[in-house]
Amino acid sequence: MGIAEGLEHIVRESEPLAAYTRLRMGGPAEYFAEPTTLEELAEVIRRAREEELNVRLLGGGTNLLVRSEGVPGVVILLSAPVFCQLEVTDGGLRCGGGVKLAHFVSTAVREGFSGPEQLTGVPGTVGGALHGNSGTHAGDIGQWCRGARVMTRNGEIVRREADDLSFSYRESSLNELVIVDAEFVFEREASESLTRRMQKLWIVKQAKQPSVNERSAYLFRDPVGMTASSLIEQAGLRGTKVGAVELSDRDPNFIVARDEATTDDVLRLIELVRSRVSDSAAVELSQNLEVW
Ligand SMILES: Cc1cc2nc3c(=O)[nH]c(=O)nc-3n(C[C@H](O)[C@H](O)[C@H](O)COP(=O)(O)OP(=O)(O)OC[C@H]3O[C@@H](n4cnc5c(N)ncnc54)[C@H](O)[C@@H]3O)c2cc1C
Repeated sequence: MGIAEGLEHIVRESEPLAAYTRLRMGGPAEYFAEPTTLEELAEVIRRAREEELNVRLLGGGTNLLVRSEGVPGVVILLSAPVFCQLEVTDGGLRCGGGVKLAHFVSTAVREGFSGPEQLTGVPGTVGGALHGNSGTHAGDIGQWCRGARVMTRNGEIVRREADDLSFSYRESSLNELVIVDAEFVFEREASESLTRRMQKLWIVKQAKQPSVNERSAYLFRDPVGMTASSLIEQAGLRGTKVGAVELSDRDPNFIVARDEATTDDVLRLIELVRSRVSDSAAVELSQNLEVW
């Protein structure tokens, strides 16, 4: 049985991926699936396994660079309501992997749960953030996670409990194929003070990162004890351009792409920055942006 047979309502062939990513570039997915139930998700994954097709999960596409030739195999997007539910629990939130991180943050602030306001301005989904333990110098999402349901490459649902989860800087042990949903527990704080903090952070973020309408990406992780931005700055690279892609003038660890930009421009700029920083500071920068 082919991957799409009987699943034509959720599986499309040769779906252009550019529109699903913040950089808005790159080629199509061989197959693109938007399951509407857990059973459909499992079925797509099982069929992909039978057909020996690689499967990838797409969140908000804010940490992805898709190559021009596209992505072989199946790309799954958790856009259906069943994967985007957010429920307030006793001391926190239960959240589908497809929930927008901004929604997670604003709900926590409204409910008087402290911590998530530190993620203000980080784009993407809860699933993507948990996968890479996204965060800021003030806190990472993993620290509030108390368990998750994941789906394996066999299409089985597995429950991961808090004591078997570990998170470190931009790393997470939640490494199964799909983060279906997760539970979070927070300290309490008055919603008014959290709102004020969120608003302040939002203003700071707007000044320090590309605007929401720009095609942008965050390039490198911070090495221990320094920031990637300062290393790039010290290498004299601020404003550097390759083709139609340049380092942001707000923070040189971000790139901004103009209309005619290509994946190749981005890859060449990343290589240029990496080698110049290596020459000037003898530091090998580790890439945060994932390339598909
Ligand atoms: C302007 C800007 C500002 C940013 N600021 C920050 C910041 O302050 N801190 C920070 O850490 N990052 C930052 N980032 C990077 C990025 O936003 C985060 O890494 C974000 O959490 C990625 O989430 P996403 O949903 O977009 O994931 P995607 O980019 O779609 O995917 C990233 C990875 O997560 C996996 N994934 C996605 N969803 C799931 C799921 N449900 N189950 C399993 N795996 C999944 C994907 O397969 C992929 O491997 C920034 C990016 C931009 C463009």
